[in-house]
Amino acid sequence: MKRVISLLLCIAMLPLVLCCCDSVTDEYTDEMFALDTFISFKMVGDEDVVNTTIEKCKSEIKRLEDLLSATKSSSDVYAINNANSDKVSVSEETAQLIIKACEISKTCNGAFDISVYPLVKLWGFDTKEYLVPKPESIAQTKALVDYTKVNVSADSFVSLCEGMSIDLGAIAKGYIGDKLWKIMKQSDISRGLVNLGGMVVTCDNSDDYDYTIGVEYPDTGEVFAKYSTEYPFSVTSGAYQRYFEQDGVRYHHIIDTQSGYPSQSDISSVTVIGNKGVDNDALSTAFFVMGIDKTLEYLNTHTDEDGSNYSVVILNADKSKVYVSQDILDSGFELSANFEEKIEICEIK
Ligand code: AMP
Ligand code: MG
Repeated sequence: MKRVISLLLCIAMLPLVLCCCDSVTDEYTDEMFALDTFISFKMVGDEDVVNTTIEKCKSEIKRLEDLLSATKSSSDVYAINNANSDKVSVSEETAQLIIKACEISKTCNGAFDISVYPLVKLWGFDTKEYLVPKPESIAQTKALVDYTKVNVSADSFVSLCEGMSIDLGAIAKGYIGDKLWKIMKQSDISRGLVNLGGMVVTCDNSDDYDYTIGVEYPDTGEVFAKYSTEYPFSVTSGAYQRYFEQDGVRYHHIIDTQSGYPSQSDISSVTVIGNKGVDNDALSTAFFVMGIDKTLEYLNTHTDEDGSNYSVVILNADKSKVYVSQDILDSGFELSANFEEKIEICEIK
């Protein structure tokens, strides 16, 4: 039996380590602000090795943010978005990630679509100068959203149609998470985790630990449930993570590309757990837009490229039910004491 690591992590916008009852003496923590969020590191091992590993992780985060951010003028994405539909030469890495994003879009009928950026900008989510657009503007802008019109050539040239632009915000963290996991795996730390706000990456080099992950209750930040997992990536999307309010209505940051409005989802938060950060991240956004029924259908018909199932924890919109994949239930999913009466656990078969 594996020993369950005593770090309880919270998948939250702000990294939050809820308890640490193991008397680990060689555990070190650090943090940084990047990707528009606080990122925290917790690693166990020799101090010098841990410091080197954390520094490598930090440099990788900065490197990839500079490449993939839609708002940094240094980035490949910025160059693509400002090329007036001309072809732009980008790094192979960016080109491959865009191809991967479009492949995932195909599997979920565009619920996840990186060409959503004109709508993200229209609602002010890029600058945080929010506004509720006029219906005519939404109709005009949503016509620009179509991942099938994102062209990537074999030699890494990218072009978009007139007026289009892309945003890797719903997949970049997952991609970066995969890279961080590799850095930790190749280092001599015995275990480590990075909380990227909405995404937790764990790495176990001692082959001795599972991790217990806490899932955040929307708005209050309480931990409503926890589960143990050997999977390295847990990614959460939720309406509560970024939003503004106008005239008593909440408008959140995950856009339904069919309507052009924030998705009217029957999900309040969805966590995707598995072996591929990049897939998990894109799919957490897609599942939020797709809603519960279509997500359950997707889980029955799709696996990751290695043939592994995706596991999920989905809290419905009125927060009365949590849908949990069988393997997560089997590995010790439980509700926190003050939520046991309020939330029904529904097993996903
Ligand atoms: P996430 O937190 O991973 O669910 O990603 C949400 C971010 O992705 C938003 O802040 C937008 O920048 C972008 N986004 C919003 N809606 C979509 C969508 N339907 N498909 C892809 N990206 C989106
Ligand atoms: Mg995502």
